[in-house]
Amino acid sequence: MRPSVTRPRIGLLGGTFDPVHAGHLTLAHAARSALRLDEVRFIPTARSWQKDDAGASAEQRLAMVRLAIEPIDGFHADSREVERGGPSYTIDTLEDIRAELGAEPALVFLMGSDQLRNLASWHRGDELLEQAHIGCTRRGPGDGGPLEPKLAALLDARGRDALPDEPSGSIVFFTMPPVPVSATALRAGLARGDRPRELVPPAVLDYIETHQLYRRNSAN
Ligand code: ATP
Repeated sequence: MRPSVTRPRIGLLGGTFDPVHAGHLTLAHAARSALRLDEVRFIPTARSWQKDDAGASAEQRLAMVRLAIEPIDGFHADSREVERGGPSYTIDTLEDIRAELGAEPALVFLMGSDQLRNLASWHRGDELLEQAHIGCTRRGPGDGGPLEPKLAALLDARGRDALPDEPSGSIVFFTMPPVPVSATALRAGLARGDRPRELVPPAVLDYIETHQLYRRNSAN
């Protein structure tokens, strides 16, 4: 039997969402059910400090996230990074949410394994687990392979089979059906005139068309 959960569990999915796609949505659904989350908040970055300038503006990426998740119960868009502006550091966002919600709820920062492998380079990355758990899923079949020693040590110390009933501090893995798509590949396809209905919600495709996003050279 799974241990009982006494506190609210809030999943946080940060990303560029340029544009939001089936990989993000599948990840959020899988995390919600595997980690027994009460809600998932999608948090688009204002400016991704680790990525080149993206194709759509922050406001447009936020608008597309809203369109994608509006119909889904328990999924919410969180505009704080877009409103804050400047480089979006996850630790600032977690501290902000923690100050707002208090010490009780479990926060679970969700990510694909590509992001976890990158964790050592995150701004104040060492402090993330003071504010939240990390819920991680494999990004695809090709993302196995050896881990950096620092990450391997962190997983030894903080990795758990299941999310403990605590507000923060652990790393857990969950599985999701593989969705082999990235926003980068999508933007390239959209620039060629593709309309990938199976990968992007119809309302988001309509928004992309209306605002003429990702055309020609804008797909980087
Ligand atoms: P890009 O190609 O620009 O890097 P992306 O879709 O990978 O785009 P983000 O929008 O920043 O990047 O992703 C937000 C989060 O969703 C990240 O933690 C990322 O690992 C995860 N993610 C994105 N696509 C997938 C996918 N297909 N499967 C699993 N996780 C994914």
